[in-house]
Amino acid sequence: MSDQQPAATPEEPKINKKQAEKEARIAARLAEEKARAEEKAALLAKYSDVFGNAELLQSTGYNTKEYTKVPQLSAALADKTVTVRARVSTTRKKGKLAFMVIRDENSSVQAMAAVDEARPKEMIDYIGQIPCESIVDVEAKVTVVDQPITSTTHSDIELQIQKIHCISESQRTLPFTLEDASRREDEEGAKVNSDTRLNCRWLDLRTPASNAIFRMQSRVCQHFRQYLLDNDFFEIHTPKIISAASEGGSNVFKLQYFNRDAFLAQSPQLYKQMVLQGDLPRVFEVAPVFRAENSNTHRHLTEFVGLDVELRINEHYYEVLDLAEGLFNYMFEKLATHTKELEDIRAQYPFEPLVWKITEEKIKELGIGIISENKQPTDQYEARVHNLESRMLRLNYPHCIELLNTVLEEKLAPTDDINTTNEKLLGKLVRERYGVDFFISDRFPSTVRPFYTMPCKDDTRFTNSYDMFIRGEEISSGAQRIHVPEMLLERAKSLQVDLTPCKDYVDSFRLGAWPHGGFGVGMERVVMLYLGLSNVRLVSMFPRDPQRVTP
Ligand code: ATP
Ligand code: MG
Repeated sequence: MSDQQPAATPEEPKINKKQAEKEARIAARLAEEKARAEEKAALLAKYSDVFGNAELLQSTGYNTKEYTKVPQLSAALADKTVTVRARVSTTRKKGKLAFMVIRDENSSVQAMAAVDEARPKEMIDYIGQIPCESIVDVEAKVTVVDQPITSTTHSDIELQIQKIHCISESQRTLPFTLEDASRREDEEGAKVNSDTRLNCRWLDLRTPASNAIFRMQSRVCQHFRQYLLDNDFFEIHTPKIISAASEGGSNVFKLQYFNRDAFLAQSPQLYKQMVLQGDLPRVFEVAPVFRAENSNTHRHLTEFVGLDVELRINEHYYEVLDLAEGLFNYMFEKLATHTKELEDIRAQYPFEPLVWKITEEKIKELGIGIISENKQPTDQYEARVHNLESRMLRLNYPHCIELLNTVLEEKLAPTDDINTTNEKLLGKLVRERYGVDFFISDRFPSTVRPFYTMPCKDDTRFTNSYDMFIRGEEISSGAQRIHVPEMLLERAKSLQVDLTPCKDYVDSFRLGAWPHGGFGVGMERVVMLYLGLSNVRLVSMFPRDPQRVTP
């Protein structure tokens, strides 16, 4: 195309005039807009101390202000001026007033601003446009209200905003609303599906139930640790990159380790046993466990947190069970004290409180054996408790089978495996007969236990092993372990497990070995089942399963 203009025509001066007028109008409008913008900027600058977007926080000040947390606000602070950093739940403009609800840590408060000498109407407009979920700093006077405010947790006070600055603005459109994500399954209204929530976990965690679930999860680990530390245990850290699969089987993740293969640990099993042979008498670990389980169930993850325990025993694996019962009793008792969290969880996911102790009446009525009274293993009883104080139920495996056979059409043999469906059914039958949601089953058939499990002396079809259940689902497995190398090798051979890659482990028992036992607990399972939740993804912060490795 040519750059040359076409030759001028007689019409041109007219057109030029029109054009010039148009351009002038545009210029005038632009000038007007610029003046308005400058005026606005000048106003914002004038009031920048009162409202507006805060300067990027870059660690230039230090303790220049005293912040009050939303939960710390109270009528006792009436007429005092406080500075609060919180998240915006809602904003609303009404004439010369602006209202907002701000929140933090499960606590919310109403804040309002009014036009006055120190605060122009632009401040009301500014508040009205702050996107929900943004973070703001509010300097405000605390006032006591006449009418209780029902929409906030602080119902008796309100904040009269003097200054407000946005610290971090949220995107205006959210992937989902917290209201939708907080709805009970049986409630009317939109729900948010699990994947959408998990894809934006940082938003999902702001719902009261999710937030409370992870507070409870933290407590589970805290109480687990505390009880064990109080009972002479040492916390250990075993490697997660290992040269041989710790539990055998196919569900191991292989990884490239420089020029050879390595594996991610399926449990700290072999290591915690080796540590015991190094004369640490009682050990525990809280650490990730990796299992390449290509099954999509409500209770399996490919990475979960293992709560592992291993200790010396003097005579009997009951010593491990006594410890386990003490531990779980402590954890359950402590968990029940976190009432606010439990309330928040129950509001979205209703559940019955866990019953873990059988009543003394039932013990008498059913003739349940009391182990500590006769100081003998009391396997002849269908059911046992350690003593009348602990009252946590132990059933031997053949008795679990008998119980199942009372309702199953296709009867099970005493050494048959109990599948997941029957496990749930067993939980229901135990609940009906014994009135508890927690029980331990012991003497599992040797065919369903790993090679390192000590066989029963009286009947080698069975082993000195046990599982623990909450609401009919497994939370823990454990056993007395074989501490004799030859016996280990023999057991492995008969189960067709190749122990060549685990030579170090076998050798660790050749230099004098302490008899021992232990158990491994799935942390997410405990949280899920204590809270009666239906899916392990609800209690894993960033769950990993065959379909999900992000976020
Ligand atoms: P399950 O029969 O439920 O698959 P398991 O018997 O294979 O479990 P163990 O090897 O006994 O599991 O592991 C100890 C504990 O770790 C289990 O009792 C359970 O609480 C937890 N656990 C095992 N596998 C998983 C998993 N994939 N996701 C979450 N927790 C798990
Ligand atoms: Mg198990």
